Amino acid sequence: MKLIDGNAIAESIIEELTKEVSQLLGKKPVIAVVRVGEDPASVSYVRKKQKTAERIGLGSRLHILPEDVSKADLFAQIDALNTDPDVSGILVQAPLPKHIDETETFNRVLPSKDVDGFNTVNIGKLCQEDDSGFVACTPAGIVQLIERSGVNTEGKHVVVLGRSQIVGKPAALLMMRKGVPGNATVTVCHSRTADLASITSQADVLIAAIGRPNFVTGDMVKDGVAVIDVGINRIEDATRKSGYRLVGDVDFEAVSQKASHITPVPGGVGPMTVAMLMYNTVRAFKASHA
Ligand code: NDP
Repeated sequence: MKLIDGNAIAESIIEELTKEVSQLLGKKPVIAVVRVGEDPASVSYVRKKQKTAERIGLGSRLHILPEDVSKADLFAQIDALNTDPDVSGILVQAPLPKHIDETETFNRVLPSKDVDGFNTVNIGKLCQEDDSGFVACTPAGIVQLIERSGVNTEGKHVVVLGRSQIVGKPAALLMMRKGVPGNATVTVCHSRTADLASITSQADVLIAAIGRPNFVTGDMVKDGVAVIDVGINRIEDATRKSGYRLVGDVDFEAVSQKASHITPVPGGVGPMTVAMLMYNTVRAFKASHA
């Protein structure tokens, strides 16, 4: 069994980007992050993204808006960033408060600055296999993990668990596209799928993104499966100071006995998401300065 080390692969991408940015003459790429409210998880994610941006040599700006911000004020902030020639990429940190529609907000961001890849135009480009669009960071990270660890998807059966807009659906599209990695036969499962284990046990590659701790057990997979575990779930653990630990959607202990490749949680897909955000920002900069 080969452990797919997301920390190491993310670090390689960050090093490649750092080198690329250091060679840029004149202006540097700038990522602007809009955070609404003080949700602790969002505060921590945004801090991590800014720190990584700074490490790579990107400029980073943070715009904090109050939890009760009006849609008009939020959109005015996004519009100002859309028209600011110094800003290469814009990220509006989700989740947004209930009174703000997320899809409408993501669509307010100019597609050419939508480094999160959530804009309808970029999702459309993904469907059309138009490489000029931005791919959402977590599925883009999954592709990198697969490619850089030598997992072959051509002609293979890839089973995706989960059909969310931000992970499952784009991951399925990427696996079925004409390319490498890709060219797979893809099955997407969700909460209404009947006899899920009969499908997962046919998978050559299994991508699990459902948000259910240790859901995929050893008897649900075949020998030699390559597993990408996207899930990040907190479970109680009295032995830890924090009182909890993070586990994926896959029972790592059991499934790793049968897998050819597997990502750990934490240290698998998680670090890739931030690295791919940086990758998209550098790409946005280069496209606007081409
Ligand atoms: P969502 O809640 O948006 O989607 C979950 C999907 O899983 C849905 O399609 C749902 O089906 C399906 N599902 C839920 N329960 C079951 C079940 N028992 N059997 C089969 N399918 C099921 O989650 P996300 O896609 O946003 O995230 C999934 C996981 O990935 C979470 O743990 C999240 O924390 C993690 N994540 C990790 C990231 C990273 O950077 N590593 C980034 C983003 C997410 P239905 O559509 O029918 O409701």
